[in-house]
Amino acid sequence: MRAYRVTSPGRSELVDCPLPTLGSGEVLLRVQAVGLCHSDVFHRQAPPVLRQTLPVTLGHEVVGVVEKAAADVTDWRPGTSAAVYVLVGCGRCSACARGEDNLCRTGYRGIGTHLDGGLADYMAVPAGNLVAADGIDPVLAAPMTDAGMTAYHAVASALGLPRSWDVGLVIGIGGLGHLAVQILAAAKADARLIAVDVDPARLELARRLGATDTVLAGHDTAARVTELVGGREVDAVLDFVGTDGTIELAADLTNRGSAIVVAGLGGGSVPFEAQLATRVSPEVTLRRVSAGSRNDLRHVLDLARAGRLRAETVPYPLEKVDEALAALEAGTVLGRAVITIA
Ligand SMILES: [Zn+2]
Ligand SMILES: [Zn+2]
Repeated sequence: MRAYRVTSPGRSELVDCPLPTLGSGEVLLRVQAVGLCHSDVFHRQAPPVLRQTLPVTLGHEVVGVVEKAAADVTDWRPGTSAAVYVLVGCGRCSACARGEDNLCRTGYRGIGTHLDGGLADYMAVPAGNLVAADGIDPVLAAPMTDAGMTAYHAVASALGLPRSWDVGLVIGIGGLGHLAVQILAAAKADARLIAVDVDPARLELARRLGATDTVLAGHDTAARVTELVGGREVDAVLDFVGTDGTIELAADLTNRGSAIVVAGLGGGSVPFEAQLATRVSPEVTLRRVSAGSRNDLRHVLDLARAGRLRAETVPYPLEKVDEALAALEAGTVLGRAVITIA
């Protein structure tokens, strides 16, 4: 079968390899669609911090059909559509028992990072990582498994944090942000929802998906947002970029009682200071979120199945993963690049 693998740090390619052999508790999935993520660009560099064992097959937003199951797996029959929950926690701690592998304190392994992922004709998956994906176009379901799940987790985490919610702001209308806008627009239908991005096409998309206002990011972003909302503060900022600039923007736009949720991994920071005059106002709640739980994944798949959450997708065949990753790095993908496998 074909598999797109990281063979050495910085080198990834489509190779021929044998079908995976099934271990106890595993299912062989015939892959249909795989969403590409910015972290794939990072994973293929195989940086030491990830402690990967190479070669490893990339691809962590996977949807497919069960081809066969190990003898001890009774609940996944061949022919069933399934999405893959990306994290494999320790399986022994209280977080894992709740299906919150993203909170596993012993550290989880990632499918498509540490374990072979879905950019292949077939993949072996622990049956416990499968979630039903029947009734959803695989191309639309695939981005739900990470972009959708993480966006949902970020929005769900943010909803209860600020003291009031009249104005929300989403920074970064990419793979995650364009889904967060839809989830937030539905959850806070009466609130203003401002989208910020560097790309006018993404702002146009945000408006189509439910943003009430958009601001093209530039040197005066904070001033223009403040002017838009009549000089008041923003109640909640969801930052899907996570650079110094975006976290500082969030700090400057928020005030007492506001909340900032950072899902982006842009390497940014803002000082946490216990003194009178600080960039982050007192009584602002700051939270960093990471991936999501199995229930978060079930919820976004339900929303997608009901047609209430729709990923904007750009399809590519398996032979063009390099091209798709280059487009992702160049920032020219509107929504999510999805590899279709047939
Ligand atoms: Zn990802
Ligand atoms: Zn655990």
